Amino acid sequence: MQQNPQPIVKDLVLIGGGHSHAIVLKMFGVKPLPGVRLTLITAASQTAYSGMLPGHIAGFYSHDECHIDLRPLANFAQAQLYVDTVVALDLENNKVLCANGLVVDFDLLSIDIGSTPATISVSGAAEYAIAAKPVSQLLEHWYELIEAVGKNPQEPISIAIVGGGVGGVELALSMQSRLHQILDKTQQPIKNLELHLFQRSTELMPNYHQSARHQIQQILTERGIKLHLGESVCNVARITQSETQEIFEIKCESGLTVECNKIFWVTQASAPEWLKNAGLGTDEQGFILVEDTLQSQTHPQVFASGDIATMVNHPRPKAGVFAVRQGKPLFDNLQRILLGKSLKPYRPQKQYLSLIGTGDKRAMSATGNAYATRGIITLPPHKLLWHYKDWIDRRFMERFRFEE
Ligand SMILES: Cc1cc2nc3c(=O)[nH]c(=O)nc-3n(C[C@H](O)[C@H](O)[C@H](O)COP(=O)(O)OP(=O)(O)OC[C@H]3O[C@@H](n4cnc5c(N)ncnc54)[C@H](O)[C@@H]3O)c2cc1C
Repeated sequence: MQQNPQPIVKDLVLIGGGHSHAIVLKMFGVKPLPGVRLTLITAASQTAYSGMLPGHIAGFYSHDECHIDLRPLANFAQAQLYVDTVVALDLENNKVLCANGLVVDFDLLSIDIGSTPATISVSGAAEYAIAAKPVSQLLEHWYELIEAVGKNPQEPISIAIVGGGVGGVELALSMQSRLHQILDKTQQPIKNLELHLFQRSTELMPNYHQSARHQIQQILTERGIKLHLGESVCNVARITQSETQEIFEIKCESGLTVECNKIFWVTQASAPEWLKNAGLGTDEQGFILVEDTLQSQTHPQVFASGDIATMVNHPRPKAGVFAVRQGKPLFDNLQRILLGKSLKPYRPQKQYLSLIGTGDKRAMSATGNAYATRGIITLPPHKLLWHYKDWIDRRFMERFRFEE
């Protein structure tokens, strides 16, 4: 006689609704595990898809088109959802502590909370600059800015972007494109807008092949974006504040100073302190060290993926493309450990093809790689590449649309 296996009740808690967890939730919805209670704790109920975010800033996608709504997704996965920010972990008693006082118990934990740009060492940056993450805050400031420019298009505006990785580059091109659309519409000269991009190293997009770096630098220069390469911003201060505008001064170690009205901060990724404080093994920047199985090096009951994880054997740049690819292996190993099976190693690809939007409904293709030494495919901006990127991104997002 066949007996029904008695399900063991286990609590799997996911912290952060990042790219990998969105995939994990979708896959749990398709292939649930009886006896496992799934919980998602995330700071915001909508999570931005990094591939379409620059396109949203450029005005090509709506807010909904580039965000995954985690409520119907959690519903599909039959997961409990808490919209709250995790502030601490107790790994001896397996508890998650949230900002609103909520305490959640777990047997198994997975962390996919992304990263935030590091500002700590630069005086005035935390106070006056707008960090690119959390995305919801970036967008709040961006909507305010485009509204202000729409109301007073005749007023000159100067914007600074600090950080010349792919995020900073795409942000600069997308912001310029959107603001030019507004100025064009109101018949104002585009010279009313000035954009500055600061980059500590002498080249943009250090994780990309030389040919891509060269090409992107040429595009930015042609578009009139003022590049400050080899410049380390060391101080940010507010000079004046009027009813309609604020003026800030950006100071660099070289002595260069630039005045601007808004500062966006897209520098190197950083991790929150509470991970290290919990005793989790982290790298020097505070990112969780994980094995090839995405399991913490120090705590077997913890898994991590996306920006917040550093694969000990395969370190990769902090990019959405890796967080997406880790989704399925993370799901597989979470299910395997819950079923008492051995874990499977995952090896991320060394090279990756990036389609980088250039803010004009074109995209260039560039090969990035883990060590920035190889990579050959660099194609100049083209409409067809944009269409291809658009198709890939929309197809990805389609997986997370649910009927009301
Ligand atoms: C402007 C810009 C453009 C970019 N463009 C690209 C690109 O074109 N291609 C690319 O590959 N990468 C790009 N990136 C990088 C990309 O955004 C990140 O690598 C990617 O988002 C990482 O995904 P993730 O799953 O690790 O986390 P995220 O997508 O950042 O998601 C983290 C989630 O965790 C939640 N969370 C955070 N902290 C907590 C907490 N304490 N408690 C609970 N929940 C929490 C957040 O609300 C969020 O839902 C860009 C970045 C920026 C800033």
